Amino acid sequence: MVDMVNNEFSGVIIFSESESISLELLSQGRKLADKLAVPLSAVLVHTTDDMPAKTLIAHGADKVYKITPAIEPINTEQFTNALFNLITEVKPRIILLGSNRVGKELASRLSSKLNTGSAMDCISAELDEDNNLKIQRVVYSGNGVATQTFKTQPQVATLAQQTYKQLPRDDGRTGEIIDKSMEHPLPKVQTVNVSERPKSAVCIEDAEFIVSFGRGLKNKEDIQMIRDLADTLKGELGCSRPIASDLKWLPTEHWVGLSGHKVKPKIYIACGISGQIQHLAGMRDSDIIVAINKDSEAPIFNAVDYGIIGDIYQVVPALVDKLKQ
Ligand SMILES: Cc1cc2nc3c(=O)[nH]c(=O)nc-3n(C[C@H](O)[C@H](O)[C@H](O)COP(=O)(O)OP(=O)(O)OC[C@H]3O[C@@H](n4cnc5c(N)ncnc54)[C@H](O)[C@@H]3O)c2cc1C
Repeated sequence: MVDMVNNEFSGVIIFSESESISLELLSQGRKLADKLAVPLSAVLVHTTDDMPAKTLIAHGADKVYKITPAIEPINTEQFTNALFNLITEVKPRIILLGSNRVGKELASRLSSKLNTGSAMDCISAELDEDNNLKIQRVVYSGNGVATQTFKTQPQVATLAQQTYKQLPRDDGRTGEIIDKSMEHPLPKVQTVNVSERPKSAVCIEDAEFIVSFGRGLKNKEDIQMIRDLADTLKGELGCSRPIASDLKWLPTEHWVGLSGHKVKPKIYIACGISGQIQHLAGMRDSDIIVAINKDSEAPIFNAVDYGIIGDIYQVVPALVDKLKQ
């Protein structure tokens, strides 16, 4: 354990093993660093190539620390050790990590080693009046939103995916690429195999159009009707929890919500979904939300831009016909 509470901390640092998550973290990290008038740094641990570092600079980083030798395959124990070494040297005030499995494991390990606090799955990360990180996260199964501030430093938070949009690439930005060579201790847990997901696997987080359905659909065979609408829009299929978890009509990759995937498409169409808070937690940041529900009192209508009160079995085929015209 390290007591860093009384030391001077400055700067914002971000890390994720995923480039797309790193770019999202840089977007909010940039705002915090600008407000604090401190540099924004990013860390690369799994490559010694300069290209990824240049990408991070073009998307907002002032400095990129490249850990050498690179750590491959993904090993959170070694990542923790590398980041801990870097943080004790660089002393950033704020550490932003991804809210994926690696990021959350890393946040717990790192904050424990640094003897400081951490917050997971933050849906907002701002500064309070004392320039401490003030975060918000969904609590009590989605029934509330907690606002919390940090009282120790450094301040470690994982930001929920799709919460912040990447900044546009600016190849005119300049930044420093700093090689940090260090020894990586032998991990206590060894990754024996990492296999790539099949190319056909759904990545609903990246979809621009999502047509989702819930228990309003009566039979599994009727998914084709929803799929027709998704295909017409060149979008992905989404679903509520009962469809993926109880009925198992779709794989969990399609599950949207608090305990499923958080999505942010241009258009999200919810067909026969009541709109419980746990579902809304996963899609409320979509640019445009459309709902089709036969119950005019369904809570989903409080969250939509466009609401269609009607039977999905009539409305969805009619929409497909209209779109095809
Ligand atoms: C800890 C926790 C985590 C959870 N996480 C998630 C999550 O990640 N994602 C999630 O989705 N849920 C989650 N849930 C479950 C959530 O609370 C709801 O139970 C679930 O979202 C309801 O799914 P639904 O809208 O498909 O079904 P229902 O609530 O049964 O709604 C069906 C809707 O379809 C409408 N309907 C029926 N027939 C038609 C028709 N022919 N045409 C038009 N409309 C029709 C009905 O009016 C109704 O509004 C979670 C719950 C808990 C406790």
